[in-house]
Amino acid sequence: SANRTDNAVVVIGLGRFGGSLAMELMSRGTDVMGIDISDSIVQSFNGKLTSVVRADATDEDVLRQLGVDEFERSVVGIGSDIQASILVTSRLLKFQCPEVWAKAITAPHAEILEQLGVHHVVNPERDMGVRTAHLIQGHILDFVPIDQGFAMVRCTAPASVQQRPMDLLDVRQRYGVAIVAVCRPGGTWEPTEPGTMLYDDDQILVTGPTDQAERFSSMG
Ligand code: ADP
Repeated sequence: SANRTDNAVVVIGLGRFGGSLAMELMSRGTDVMGIDISDSIVQSFNGKLTSVVRADATDEDVLRQLGVDEFERSVVGIGSDIQASILVTSRLLKFQCPEVWAKAITAPHAEILEQLGVHHVVNPERDMGVRTAHLIQGHILDFVPIDQGFAMVRCTAPASVQQRPMDLLDVRQRYGVAIVAVCRPGGTWEPTEPGTMLYDDDQILVTGPTDQAERFSSMG
């Protein structure tokens, strides 16, 4: 149905995770209704989100009164109170919200959310741990897991791929990865082309199977 909440997102639980998520959505032009049980949290977000409400989101009637059942997209940012997380999430699924995102803080928590039918379960702490491990390992400047076993890595251009046009390098054959974009010092990101040449201090984006992308990025 075409109503005012079509493009908006309801974020339930405005802690460190839900709060920064809500602010980022707002800064990128998406309307956000924030709900939190804590008075001080709600006050701190007053005027910063499209609307902010203090409520116990485990209460189904309250959620209906707030119109939460009309949102196309919802996020449950409650983590440490697993019971509340599960109760709120199952209400949203009962409303048949087409896109429910929920934060999990442990593996069993994630498993239960998935069993309930949550469309997207996110594990921020587990994912940041993995990510930080990859960052610690060297030349890698940024690491984005795309799916199980596949990743995108930002790194400096290894010497072995410098000063020759991309189409003569056989990067895919030799290293099992693709160099998809380049950023020259002081420049902006551009997709690579067959004739693109890389130099010292260029940053590149590499995609491929995680182990190969990582090996390639660490060659220096
Ligand atoms: P984070 O680690 O992201 O801060 P927390 O789980 O510690 O996550 O915090 C989640 C937020 O959810 C807190 O601000 C808390 O007040 C809120 N919250 C907890 N239970 C409820 C509930 N039943 N209804 C609405 N908000 C809740």
